[in-house]
Amino acid sequence: MVIETNKVVAVHYTLTEGTAEGQMVESTQGREPLMFIFGVGMMLPEFERNLSGLKTGDTFAFAIPAAQAYGEYDNNALVEVPKSMFEQDGKIPDGILEVGNMLPLQDQDGNRLTGMVAWVGLDKVKIDFNHPMAGVDLYFTGQVDSLRDADPSELAHGHVHGAGGHHH
Ligand SMILES: [Zn+2]
Repeated sequence: MVIETNKVVAVHYTLTEGTAEGQMVESTQGREPLMFIFGVGMMLPEFERNLSGLKTGDTFAFAIPAAQAYGEYDNNALVEVPKSMFEQDGKIPDGILEVGNMLPLQDQDGNRLTGMVAWVGLDKVKIDFNHPMAGVDLYFTGQVDSLRDADPSELAHGHVHGAGGHHH
């Protein structure tokens, strides 16, 4: 059996920035492996392309450029807004406008999005709507932990059931 569409794949991986020696972002080492149904759009397409055809026990190491991961950093997604936008009953709640805070917001069409407070001035703030990993080249190393066919209910739900997956 090899990794292909509709297989339930479990992998251990370590994600670093840029190269294998880059800053570590996350790792499953010492934890449960990442489990997902292959080929149903749950993962980055480039991530799946690099795992396609591997068998249980195979190791992998590959890079995904930012443009094919979470996108290039977009300067237009860093917007300056008046602080008064965050007032509730005429007052800005304590602690919400601090650099690094993630704020749930809405655009003019009512779509929910999350922005990070990037800069706080006297009466203006800059909110960054880029994905936190925008502009970052990803580097994955790891090993295929297990592999099996997805069952029909998993394919219908689009997620993994049982150990390492959804229980319901
Ligand atoms: Zn389900």
